[in-house]
Amino acid sequence: MSHELYKNLIGGQWVTAKTGKTFLNINPADKNDIVGEFQSSGAEDVDAAVKAAEAAYKTWRLVPAPKRAEILYRTGQLLEQRKEQYAQEMTREMGKVIAETRGDVQEAIDTAYYMAGEGRRLFGQTTPSELQNKFAMSVRMPVGVCGMIAPWNFPMAIPSWKLFPALVCGNTCVIKPAEDTPLSTFNLVQTLIDAGLPKGVVNIVTGYGPDAGAPIVSHPGVRAVSFTGSSEVGRIVGQTAAANFKPCSLEMGGKNAMIVLDDANLDLALDGAVWGAFGTAGQRCTATSRIILHKKIAADFTEKLVARAKALKVGNGLDESTEMGPQINEQQIETSTKYSKIAQDEGAKLLCGGARLADGPYANGTFFAPTVLAGVKPTMRIAQEEVFGPVVSLIECSSFDEALGIANGIQYGLSTALYSRDVNHAYRAMRDLEAGITYVNAPTIGAEVHLPFGGVKQTGNGHREGGTGALDFYTTWKSVYVDYSDKLQ
Ligand code: NAD
Repeated sequence: MSHELYKNLIGGQWVTAKTGKTFLNINPADKNDIVGEFQSSGAEDVDAAVKAAEAAYKTWRLVPAPKRAEILYRTGQLLEQRKEQYAQEMTREMGKVIAETRGDVQEAIDTAYYMAGEGRRLFGQTTPSELQNKFAMSVRMPVGVCGMIAPWNFPMAIPSWKLFPALVCGNTCVIKPAEDTPLSTFNLVQTLIDAGLPKGVVNIVTGYGPDAGAPIVSHPGVRAVSFTGSSEVGRIVGQTAAANFKPCSLEMGGKNAMIVLDDANLDLALDGAVWGAFGTAGQRCTATSRIILHKKIAADFTEKLVARAKALKVGNGLDESTEMGPQINEQQIETSTKYSKIAQDEGAKLLCGGARLADGPYANGTFFAPTVLAGVKPTMRIAQEEVFGPVVSLIECSSFDEALGIANGIQYGLSTALYSRDVNHAYRAMRDLEAGITYVNAPTIGAEVHLPFGGVKQTGNGHREGGTGALDFYTTWKSVYVDYSDKLQ
């Protein structure tokens, strides 16, 4: 079957990479299905994109913010019209089930409307001056050209978290989508163009991380870098940005805990566990990968969770009845397989899954069985390291204090959940769990775009996407003093 050739977007023109190389975007549910062919770009292509963004910045920064916001508002409206088509294309390139890809597009729509509203705010401050006849204020200024590097698991939502606040603040952008899911970024940017975005304001360069991502981070014309991906790559990106004195937002991995106490609504907790651990086939930075169970309810909860995991319908995400789609690629299958084995070698008990699904309808795809491991100890590698697959560890505890200690005893700090009916426990969880997000009686996944999103420890470096925190990253403060005394004061 023939497939489409996609080109880089540089200065409003669709152009092939100077490298002359391309790569294929493959459907993980059916590896015979080629979604598209994309440019495998290098430093020269990035340089051209940055120059186009620098040229566009000269005029874009002067467009009044409410007018920039109107383009975002229209983008939201167009995305609503295109939602079903874009969701279907996203399931085809990324694998997650259609209900989730509709949610991914919806998150971009919500971000468009939220950030459009910011175009009429972008508040600064007025401050009393020490002197008579002098006015003092601080105003938000755009940063300039922003470089953006995205992962594959939220292929439209995450680019929208980066592009929309950057644009409303008056910046221009060079974005590199993940090599597994470039099409959804193309769809997002095409919608911005159709909504009236001028040429060169957003530029897309596709390709592999070291070839097309690294040159964005090191390019002197890029004034700020926003990265979402693994902590391993984030460390490299952060070091390069720091060496070039660039602001850099790093949103990285997670090893998210759900605590279930003996006073919890267990049916609710069970639903939260299934959705948190196996939603997006476990490929979420906020996925529930550790469930810390009070020993009084552990046996009952474990039995029911295993039954639910075994009953999950795994398959092609375009089928409305599918509950869990494939893993993104072969490498992710290897990781999920490797960690299931490491866990057992360390003494954990495999209760279900632990292996690839390879027969019949699964033969052409990268499917992994929902996996539950019991008897996990907090120090085991399976309890410490991110798997990013449908693999959940069950850890028992005897008290709430012990549960808090286990939950916090990792290098990551993104999302956490507590299931308990005790209001005192709820407030202590809010205060004491070391994470950027804490849910009470709700799963570790389910962020809303107007709240800050990000983590502590090795999950993030202090910046936040979503909410007004995004504006802080994409603007810089300027203090302005206006002396209207007409003399030296
Ligand atoms: P990844 O780190 O492998 O890749 C992320 C992006 O970085 C890709 O676009 C990749 O091409 C690029 N890249 C790779 N090497 C690079 C280099 N040397 N220089 C510059 N760019 C480079 O991550 P992934 O596999 O795409 O995504 C999964 C990871 O993302 C998981 O760890 C997950 O937890 C994390 N994630 C975090 C959040 C969050 O907000 N905290 C959200 C989603 C995913």
